[in-house]
Amino acid sequence: MHFPFDNSYARLPDAMYARVQPTPVAEPKLIALNRDLAEMLGLDAKALEEELASGLFSGNSLPTGADPIAMAYSGHQFGGFSPVLGDGRAILLGEVVGSDGVRRDIQLKGSGPTPFSRRGDGRSALGPVLREYIVSEAMYALGVPTTRALAAVSTGEMVVRERPQPGGIFTRVARSHIRVGTFQYFRAHDDLDNLHKLLDYSIQRLDPAAAEAEKPALAFFEGVIARQAELVATWMSFGFIHGVMNTDNTSISGETIDYGPCAFLDYFDPAKVFSSIDHQGRYAYNNQPAIAQWNLARLADTLLPFLGAKEAEAIEEAKAALSRFPDHFQATMDARFAAKIGLPTNDDEAAALVESLLKLMHRDRADFTRTFRRLADKPDGSAGRLVEEFEDLESINQWLAEWQAHLQRKGIESDDAARRMRAANPARIPRNHRIEAVIEAGIDDDFAPFHKLHAALKEPYLERAEFAEYESSPTPEEEVRETFCGT
Ligand code: AMP
Ligand code: MG
Repeated sequence: MHFPFDNSYARLPDAMYARVQPTPVAEPKLIALNRDLAEMLGLDAKALEEELASGLFSGNSLPTGADPIAMAYSGHQFGGFSPVLGDGRAILLGEVVGSDGVRRDIQLKGSGPTPFSRRGDGRSALGPVLREYIVSEAMYALGVPTTRALAAVSTGEMVVRERPQPGGIFTRVARSHIRVGTFQYFRAHDDLDNLHKLLDYSIQRLDPAAAEAEKPALAFFEGVIARQAELVATWMSFGFIHGVMNTDNTSISGETIDYGPCAFLDYFDPAKVFSSIDHQGRYAYNNQPAIAQWNLARLADTLLPFLGAKEAEAIEEAKAALSRFPDHFQATMDARFAAKIGLPTNDDEAAALVESLLKLMHRDRADFTRTFRRLADKPDGSAGRLVEEFEDLESINQWLAEWQAHLQRKGIESDDAARRMRAANPARIPRNHRIEAVIEAGIDDDFAPFHKLHAALKEPYLERAEFAEYESSPTPEEEVRETFCGT
């Protein structure tokens, strides 16, 4: 099988990666193949018969033109620096330029050990494979920048985690897998030459306009800041918590990457943490912008040699650029939350309305997704099912009256507001308890719930009777209170 590979990263100096072959698995079986994405990448989806696909997307057979490598990177994990992380269980097969003209990586995850595996087995359990497939494709359908899922296979082998579990391999597609940690790797190794090459490569691939700027490195850095700020604000507008925003999980392209202990809020709690290993709440819902900015400051550390002729000057440039992060972030938050309550633009009154609604939601543990979705049901102010989310009816009814008065003062028609809200507020998100159920069934070799949940999340803004069950919040017994890394 031929993929139209053009592997630019593998043409960079050897210090940037290790050449390594995937390790074959016993009995690969195709669980899912994303045909739309395959077509967009210029792969012959029709020719990808099940058997062929399971061989290719398990690493048992390599498509011609592949030049498999494990990328080198470092990372700050929960604030502590590890100079050598790298792709310990992932192998980049190569890059293709899609029908949209965009170059993308095709990477296997869980495909066996690499020189970066340390004591790990280079494998993935099936659960995290199913989770990443569902959540990354749901994020794409919601309109959030994200890596994507091309395929999932089961390996027919067990992997040992807390207990033995069936193994899986995930095929990930990304605009690139360059992370903040990739830059940190060369800085940590005092390898300014390759750091410079990485910078030039990243500019060319991810932000060619920056090359034309007066100060290309600074323009590039500002682009990374803007993309990260918009990304995190977009996450938050959907109640998404990444869960492990280490610098090695922060993509330079501004895509969401590495779906580990991620989760969507059910009831609204701005301090919410799901990840079992995040004891300090470092990656809590409302801490995400501050952490993203901290991660970008680590990128700035690496870029200093290119930001100014003198170090003092470079530090000033970096500080000034970083100081604009909060404005970028807030601008996206304001626009998205204004739309969530039906308004075309944000102003002080709109911001106050959003703030007071979120306060009521927090106090009454209202479901984040349903509350906003149900606002669109009754934009004329009659509260409808929305009030079911609240305990204090008087307060929510008063808020609805104020909101209604605001819409009227602004001359916004109800239909207009409802349309805007239905485009901003999904009916369905990948709820944590649904994902857990999909994983449990998958471990028992039943993938019907996986396919149904995936189908339910393809058009998340359209109400569909057949998918109504995915719109409800969990019962107390169903509620997922803790999520795991799944490495
Ligand atoms: P992650 O938790 O996916 O962000 O991974 C952090 C680091 O641990 C990366 O360098 C991974 O490649 C490595 N890693 C995670 N799981 C494994 C595994 N099962 N085998 C080898 N390396 C792993
Ligand atoms: Mg990672």
